[in-house]
Amino acid sequence: MILHASPLITWTEKGLYCESGGFYIDPHRKVDLALITHAHSDHARRGSLKYICVNSGLELLKARLGQKISVKGFNYRETFELGDVKVSFHSAGHILGSAQVRIQRGHEVWVASGDYKRDRDPSCDPFESVPCDTFITEATFGTPKFIWEKDLEHGRMIHEWWSENSSQGRNCILFGYSLGKAQRILAELAPFAHRPVLIHDTIHELTECYRREGRNLAQTKLLKDRLEDNDEIGGELILAPPSILTEKWIGRIGQYQTAFASGWMQGSGGFGRSRYDKGFVMSDHADWNDLNRTISETGAKRVYVQHRDGALIRHLKLKGIDARPIEDLKPINHDVQSGQNLRLI
Ligand SMILES: [Zn+2]
Ligand SMILES: [Zn+2]
Repeated sequence: MILHASPLITWTEKGLYCESGGFYIDPHRKVDLALITHAHSDHARRGSLKYICVNSGLELLKARLGQKISVKGFNYRETFELGDVKVSFHSAGHILGSAQVRIQRGHEVWVASGDYKRDRDPSCDPFESVPCDTFITEATFGTPKFIWEKDLEHGRMIHEWWSENSSQGRNCILFGYSLGKAQRILAELAPFAHRPVLIHDTIHELTECYRREGRNLAQTKLLKDRLEDNDEIGGELILAPPSILTEKWIGRIGQYQTAFASGWMQGSGGFGRSRYDKGFVMSDHADWNDLNRTISETGAKRVYVQHRDGALIRHLKLKGIDARPIEDLKPINHDVQSGQNLRLI
């Protein structure tokens, strides 16, 4: 058995780095080879020489980073070799084409989760649990106060809100992020919507990427076209990113109610609840229970936690798991830990 002096993945200034494979995962800066877990802007950044991602997320990545990027796609579960390691992507259930990255060197297996969720989402493939020795997990909702109800019928709930307002002649403005959340809402609404949902321009191209990948979404029409057609609009559902509240069209749409779809709407006095008439608890990240379920399903003996680490690390340690903040993977820290980062079994 070959023992390697450094961990398979390290946490560098440019992000997660696999020296044996010669690549970064979701690098923060430009690098030669970037494996991208998904097209959200905090994971997919411009400037790298080459990109690798999941085939179903390839169009989204180009829509975000430019059509001219050099990018190669692989299917989920397809194994490819980079340097001394074998790599494969596994569905993260977060948005279309989102992936966990499985990396194998000899018999040692690491999985970097990217963003993930376990809730039902008709706009993307479901999450896949991947056994590994070491799991690098996100923990956006990594405290026990973030536990939400599962299998809510979001489409029906949003449609009911729309119908109620529509019967009073009011419009509904539903705020959700333009990549992922917006398309999930459209997929949830597909069986219910009785007329096109009006979408803000920032959502349009990304939504078409989903359609080209065969995702069944509710019919849409561009809000700006609808405003040009007719000055008076009533009873419409408008889907827009939260950033547009300041735009001038908002003054042109008469009476309306607002809602926000986000995991942050969870709990009493949830983030921003008071700023909106309604909140739909609809998260693209795992809640506390699903973080714990996922970690236990991987069978990992060592877990590195990204983003929000305190409570989850303490909780995992109580369960006998060697849990650490991602910073422990900084080269300077594992030199100090000398030898502790060898294969676990
Ligand atoms: Zn994301
Ligand atoms: Zn993220």
